[in-house]
Amino acid sequence: MPATIVVGAQWGDEGKGKIANLLAQEADVVVRFQGGNNAGHTIVIGEQRFALSLIPSGVIYPNVVPVIGNGCVVDPAVLLAEMDTLRKRGIDPGNLRLSANAHLIMPYHRKLDAVRERFLGHQRIGTTKRGIGPAYQDKFSRLGIRAQDLYDPKIFRDKVEMGLKEKNRILTKVFNQLAMDAGQIVEEYLGYGARLLPHVTDTSLLVWEAIRAGKNVVFEGAQGTLLDIDHGTYPFVTSSNPVAGGALTGAGVGPRDIDRVLGIAKAYISRVGSGPFPTELSDEVGEQMVQIGGEFGTVTGRRRRCGWLDTVALRYAVRVNGITELALTKLDVLSAFPTLRLGVAYSSLGERYDEFPRQQRVLYNCTPIYEDLPGWNTDITEVRRLEDLPKAARAYLERVEQLAGAPITIVSVGPERSATFLRQ
Ligand code: GDP
Repeated sequence: MPATIVVGAQWGDEGKGKIANLLAQEADVVVRFQGGNNAGHTIVIGEQRFALSLIPSGVIYPNVVPVIGNGCVVDPAVLLAEMDTLRKRGIDPGNLRLSANAHLIMPYHRKLDAVRERFLGHQRIGTTKRGIGPAYQDKFSRLGIRAQDLYDPKIFRDKVEMGLKEKNRILTKVFNQLAMDAGQIVEEYLGYGARLLPHVTDTSLLVWEAIRAGKNVVFEGAQGTLLDIDHGTYPFVTSSNPVAGGALTGAGVGPRDIDRVLGIAKAYISRVGSGPFPTELSDEVGEQMVQIGGEFGTVTGRRRRCGWLDTVALRYAVRVNGITELALTKLDVLSAFPTLRLGVAYSSLGERYDEFPRQQRVLYNCTPIYEDLPGWNTDITEVRRLEDLPKAARAYLERVEQLAGAPITIVSVGPERSATFLRQ
């Protein structure tokens, strides 16, 4: 698996943490390439549960160099707190590398995120209020502050002062908030800088050298394809590019260095927060999916909306990411249902759509066209070989890959790392 990009093929929460963790066992380098501490990866090893929001899951293996790439936005206080938590659990994050070009989330980003959401009222995006969107805004306005700026105190101070000049006006005049103090922020952040110094480096070069040396590199995406700022269900999206292309820009590698793109999808589908969701179930079946699947956010605890697997959206994800293979997770959750449904097309405004619609208006009015398949009515959480899966479950996998247009090579039937098998 020399260079593998792992992407979420739905609206996030597909179980990427578990699969990336599985790949990390054999990896040398694991790279996060977008987002910030708005993603939560749950990793379960035996009795231990880890929830990481920023550090790649590979950190738990001493042989892995975990990397936070330039495409991420980093709240240094959160990063340091995560490192401390790991140390307390006996995991040394000393190998962690942070791109000198990664942008920092500043206290005013968090503040703006929160007050803007409040201001938007019922039209709010449902952000995690961690300052991620405003940090990306500053990056693209060329007002951002990067990790490397922490090591030039004069420039750092100038940048914070300049940034705050505008932000304080917005905070006080638009949102009726108190102004923030540059001096205090500078002092706090230079302190973080000192602690992070051993970790900050040119991670693009590090990754390039690893690939050249034939090492195994895993690029671990956060969120999912349908939350991509360009290819997702805008505006109910995240502020970065979770698609495979984002791994290239967000880690600083070229397309020819990538060997494999692994898309992670749940055997059903969920989404957090607002936005269109054609196969959403507001009935008893949807509620059962939430309960059996434990569909509550890792970071926020928010209840996720659930529905049948949408293969129109999955086919779209295969296309925009160039997915070469799929991992299907949480197949065990479907054991509860006598009949399973697959969304195979949409009907909207009097027309049939076989491909994911380009227009928001069409998407909002979509009702799914389903194909029904028999369930298997038996517990599959102990299954570890494809041959041992009930026939109906194998038929389900075959139909999904046919509709999606990519082979399912990994199947997950429970939260534990061992509850997984390969399917060639
Ligand atoms: P991620 O952000 O994509 O890693 O997804 P989350 O960690 O938010 O959600 C995945 C959740 O599902 C975690 O609690 C996992 O332990 C759990 N999980 C992963 N794979 C499976 C599976 O095959 N079956 C079941 N029942 N749970 C799983």
